[in-house]
Amino acid sequence: MTAILEPTVDSGTTPTFDSLNPANGDVVGTYPIQGRAEVDAAVARAHDASAWWGGLTFKERGDYLLTWRSVITRRIAQLAELSHRETGKPHGDAQLEIIIAIDHIAWVAKHAKKILGPQKVSSGLLMANQASSVEYHPLGVVGVIGPWNYPVFTPMGSIAYALAAGNAVVFKPSEYTPGVGQWLADTFTEVVHGRPVLQVVTGLGETGNALCTADINKLAFTGSGPTGKKVMAACAQNLTPVLIEAGGKDSLIVDEDADLTKAAEAALWGGMSNAGQTCIGTERVYVHEKVFDAFVTEITEQAKDLRAGDDAGAKLGPITMPSQIGIIKSHIDDAIAKGATVVMGGSDAVGERFVQPTILTHVPENSTEMTEETFGPTLAINPVKSMDEAVELTNATSYGLAGSVFAKKNGVDIARRVRSGMTSVNSVIAFAAVPGLPFGGVGQSGFGRIHGPDGLKEFTYAKAITRQRMKPLMMLTSFARDAKTDNKALKLITVMHGGSKTLK
Ligand code: NAD
Repeated sequence: MTAILEPTVDSGTTPTFDSLNPANGDVVGTYPIQGRAEVDAAVARAHDASAWWGGLTFKERGDYLLTWRSVITRRIAQLAELSHRETGKPHGDAQLEIIIAIDHIAWVAKHAKKILGPQKVSSGLLMANQASSVEYHPLGVVGVIGPWNYPVFTPMGSIAYALAAGNAVVFKPSEYTPGVGQWLADTFTEVVHGRPVLQVVTGLGETGNALCTADINKLAFTGSGPTGKKVMAACAQNLTPVLIEAGGKDSLIVDEDADLTKAAEAALWGGMSNAGQTCIGTERVYVHEKVFDAFVTEITEQAKDLRAGDDAGAKLGPITMPSQIGIIKSHIDDAIAKGATVVMGGSDAVGERFVQPTILTHVPENSTEMTEETFGPTLAINPVKSMDEAVELTNATSYGLAGSVFAKKNGVDIARRVRSGMTSVNSVIAFAAVPGLPFGGVGQSGFGRIHGPDGLKEFTYAKAITRQRMKPLMMLTSFARDAKTDNKALKLITVMHGGSKTLK
């Protein structure tokens, strides 16, 4: 390991925590548990740095971000190895996540000016003497709290977008992946010659709470719904705005005319990759009854060699967060107790560190396997009579993050009817790798957006400017306004808006 990966801990006084390799329990690194004083100090440094960073042109900031992108790209193997060790995910999966994140950094670096820079706005007839424009200013310091499941890609959706908009960032990575967070901040700091524009504070929930209540201008949270509620409550103390990217219970819908081989391949990847620990992962599958049996046969065949383990041949890693193992088992057990059919895996698939792929069919809709986020390598596959039923069942959840539809004829129509922030037709998770598209959910999956133009604006405030370019036709905003002017204004508005429109 090179020096950049080594956490610096004053072991004499600072309390610490260990980042463990979930595949074998080895210590990957030891990090300080930073408290209020350290978090406040980081935020104060960030305010100073934001004056410099926010004062740069979009081009200058873009150049720094593009340099960072190149550094990450050149050292991708190092970062992927660290992510592999902290999360347990296979090296190739860790690399794939970083590749997508790199593309996002490049996109924001190149698009921030067009989206956030000054734009002319029509002033309308009433204010025809004004030149109007809007531009989007940085908020100042953005706090980012991240999860462990995609420790590069997920927080990057907030970090890169907040930075490109001109903010400084203080990032609290998950306690399961502090090394990855530190690596990102260290490489960015290297690029900006030591300026604290992107800093990391490490620790557990209390460190996150200290960040929520520090002197920040916005908090971007990605994690579970229950923690999201605590984050909102803490941020409410200072009226700090929040962005919440929480969990999901996404479905993949298969219509009778779908390509079943491709649909099965996608469901398998969507449900099992990253050992099922994906916020936008497939947890439920609704298949048209006419092709249900064929689909189940196909996915079982495709899944036969898939397994979790710590060796090079295993395509699934361990469950990163030990406490999740009990939840996964309880969902499988609840489904079976309520009458689900086990096609593959089952209760015995749940080991101490690894969970083997589990496929269940005819899973009762009231079992936790269908109602709560499982976050493990399980798929619940149920037949439906029609696409109306598939949409109805898909939407019968308090979540609304993402989802997929496999269909030849009606894919996009079905996608529109799914109540979620993102849906891919005839693929899974594709939207996450399109930097120009917004990413986020509705309902218990959260609110606000990362990625795309919406994701950039999320870390700004809109600044409206009008410049009087000639004398007004009527002086409306003056105590000198007389009855004649009032009459003129009334006539104008009647001509403009007084006509009646026949409603059909
Ligand atoms: P989590 O809620 O346990 O933790 C998330 C982060 O919050 C961690 O950094 C943690 O230290 C911090 N935290 C804990 N208590 C806190 C408190 N009181 N105040 C402030 N911060 C606190 O989530 P997790 O287990 O790390 O991640 C898994 C969850 O994240 C899943 O529900 C998954 O669906 C969700 N997720 C969502 C998205 C998305 O974009 N919507 C992406 C990835 C993961």
